[in-house]
Amino acid sequence: MVDDVENPITVIPEVITHHDIGLLIFDKNIGEPVMSDGLKTEIIKMGSKYFQNTEGPFLPTNNRCMNKSWFKKKLGNCGEEVTRSWLVYSPSKKSAFCICCLIFSQLNNQTALEHEDGFTQWKAPERLTAHENAKNHRQCFTQWKEMERNFAANKGIIDAELQTQIETGKQKWRNVLKRIIHCIKFLATQNLALRGHRESLSTCDDESEPNNVGNFLGFIKLLAIFDPNINTHLTHIKNHPGTTSYFSPSVQNEFIHLMATTSYFSPSVQNEFIHLMATTVRQSLLRSIRKSKYYDLMFDSTPDQAHHEQMSEVVRYVEVDFERKSVRVRESFLGFKRMLEA
Ligand SMILES: [Zn+2]
Repeated sequence: MVDDVENPITVIPEVITHHDIGLLIFDKNIGEPVMSDGLKTEIIKMGSKYFQNTEGPFLPTNNRCMNKSWFKKKLGNCGEEVTRSWLVYSPSKKSAFCICCLIFSQLNNQTALEHEDGFTQWKAPERLTAHENAKNHRQCFTQWKEMERNFAANKGIIDAELQTQIETGKQKWRNVLKRIIHCIKFLATQNLALRGHRESLSTCDDESEPNNVGNFLGFIKLLAIFDPNINTHLTHIKNHPGTTSYFSPSVQNEFIHLMATTSYFSPSVQNEFIHLMATTVRQSLLRSIRKSKYYDLMFDSTPDQAHHEQMSEVVRYVEVDFERKSVRVRESFLGFKRMLEA
C-alpha cells in the first residue's frame, strides 16, 4: 500500500477510500506514520475536510467520546468561531488526530494526536488547545497551509492556460468559417457554380495539370495568398490528407469524409451553408410580403435537364413606405417546387 518515496501512489490506500486517517500504516516501534510523498500529496490535495468525519458517529472509549463542538474553537472575547481544520476523527481507531502533525512533524516525542493510537482523553479537551498552541504544531500547520496554497495556485495556472488554448481554438475556427461563408455567399449571389471538374486541394498546386477545381476552392486558394487564417488552415489540410492506412477501406472512407468535413471545404458543407443562407433570405422575404396589403402569386412550370417538371413560385407585392412616401412593386422568387409525375 505504501510505495517508494519517489513514486506517486498507484494503489488507492484505505485511508482515502474510508475517509479515515487512522488507517495509515504506523511504524510499530516508534508509533509514527509511514507515508510515501505521493500519499502525503494526495492527502493534502483531498483536504482535511475529507478526513474530519465531523458528523460522527463518535464511538465511546472508556464510556466517553469525541464531541462535535471540538471541531470549532471560540476566538478570544469576540466569541467568533473558527473551524479546527487540523483536527480529524478516525472511526476505526475511535480517536482523534492532528492531520498536519501526522504529515509534517519531525519530532520524536509526539503527542497523542500524532501517535498511532490517537487522542482519546475525552475528559481533557483543553489538551487540544494546548496542542494547537505548541510551537511544533504551528510550524507543521504553516507548512501544510503553504503546500495547500501551492497546489491551488498551480491548478489555477493550468486551468488558465487550458482556457486560453480553448479560446484561441474557438477564435481560429470562427475566423475560418467567416471567410468560407463569405466566399459561398459571394458565389451564390453572383449565380456562379461552386463545384469544379476535379475537387482536390492537391491538384490546386499542380500548374502542369490545370484542372478546374471549381470557383469555391479556387476562391479559397486565392484568399489564402493574402489571408493568414485561410493560409494556415489550407496548409494544415494539405499536410493531413487523411489517407492513413490504419483502417479498413470503409473506415478509411469515413475518416476521409470526417477530415473533409472538418476542413469545411466539402460539398456537403457548402450545400449546408447555402441552405442556411437561403432559409434566412426566404424568411426575410416572407416577412416583408406578409406586411404588404396587395399581392399576387405567380406560378410557372418548366422541365429541368432531367425532364422533371419544376414549378417556380414568385410573389409580386406592393411595398408601401409611409415614412418616405414611396410605393414600390416588388417581385420575389421564393423557390422551385418539384411537380409530382402524372
Ligand atoms: Zn498538530
